[in-house]
Amino acid sequence: MKPWEKNIRKVVPYTPGDQPAGTKLIKLNTNENPYPPAPGVKKAMQELDFACLRKYPDPSSSLLVRCLAEYYGVEDEQVFVGVGSDDVLAMIFLTFFNSEKPVLFPDVSYSFYPVWAKLYGIPYQTPALDEEFRIRKEDYYQENGGVIFPNPNAPTGLLLSLEEIEDILKHNQDVVVVVDEAYIDFGGKSSLGLTRQYQNLLVVQTFSKARSMAGLRIGFAIGHRDLIRALNDVKYSFNSYTMNIPSLVLGAEAVKDQEYFQKTVKKIIDTRERAKIRLRELGFSFPDSKANFIFASHSRIPAEELFEVLRQNQIYVRYFKQPRLENSLRITIGTDEEMEELFAFLADYLKTH
Ligand SMILES: *Cc1c(COP(=O)(O)O)cnc(C)c1O
Repeated sequence: MKPWEKNIRKVVPYTPGDQPAGTKLIKLNTNENPYPPAPGVKKAMQELDFACLRKYPDPSSSLLVRCLAEYYGVEDEQVFVGVGSDDVLAMIFLTFFNSEKPVLFPDVSYSFYPVWAKLYGIPYQTPALDEEFRIRKEDYYQENGGVIFPNPNAPTGLLLSLEEIEDILKHNQDVVVVVDEAYIDFGGKSSLGLTRQYQNLLVVQTFSKARSMAGLRIGFAIGHRDLIRALNDVKYSFNSYTMNIPSLVLGAEAVKDQEYFQKTVKKIIDTRERAKIRLRELGFSFPDSKANFIFASHSRIPAEELFEVLRQNQIYVRYFKQPRLENSLRITIGTDEEMEELFAFLADYLKTH
């Protein structure tokens, strides 16, 4: 061991899904949107002033902040933007979870939460989901240093109602409560309206899923201006220029095209509902997803085996080798054509195995 090695921070990093190279493969493993961003985004990208890249971007990201504030009917001072919601969530952990008491999040949930908690030395507890993979709201009525959960939850796709979320808020008035709405546009009701009544609520969303822009890295949080001010103080203590110029311009453009957004989201919801029927026919069972993925296990064939044969045949889905998750596949909803290829392959494989 070299002398300086004892001073190295030891972390077990989050493992993102594979980004395999190639054009012929079917990629249903990282919940990306199968459709391209809105046409206006392409136009704005072509018209982007190349020479402007010489300069630093606006540190307050005001163009994008204003667009989001207008779209969601809040003040500019209630919006915080970051480099994907992962960046926003990392800032939230750093800014708000500074109690000696444990932060609470579900045991089956976004697997980045425990990584940030450990990185920052934040104590945490993970109440278990029930037998049907549901969040039990009563688990969040105990003393804690903050609460965070995705809605719909990942990788289950299960949605909590606004009534249940409000119950959690009523029992947690002294800490910051964060609802991670990465998948809310695929059929859920957003908690954004509750931020008016609950000044300790932060709602986090992303451009990576419903808005087809995972490659640009844009996420945001909306909440009371005091929370947003605190987040900005930490951001400016870390990196003033988190958002690059293309992300600011193209992100703002994406927000403007509500019609395209609603059209693509509806296509994905329709494909998801058809996929539920097909997967059931093939012998799969799954929680009733309101996200752009289905977390399915087969009655006969182990998930790991299916994951491997699918991958050998250029169909990528996500597999988590973890207690409670190891017999399920998380299948992102792709285009109808991609899903048909998946079903055809599965039908064929299941006939002979
Ligand atoms: C995808 C995802 C995110 C992060 O997405 P970004 O691409 O960083 O915006 C955050 N939370 C959950 C639950 C997700 O599934």
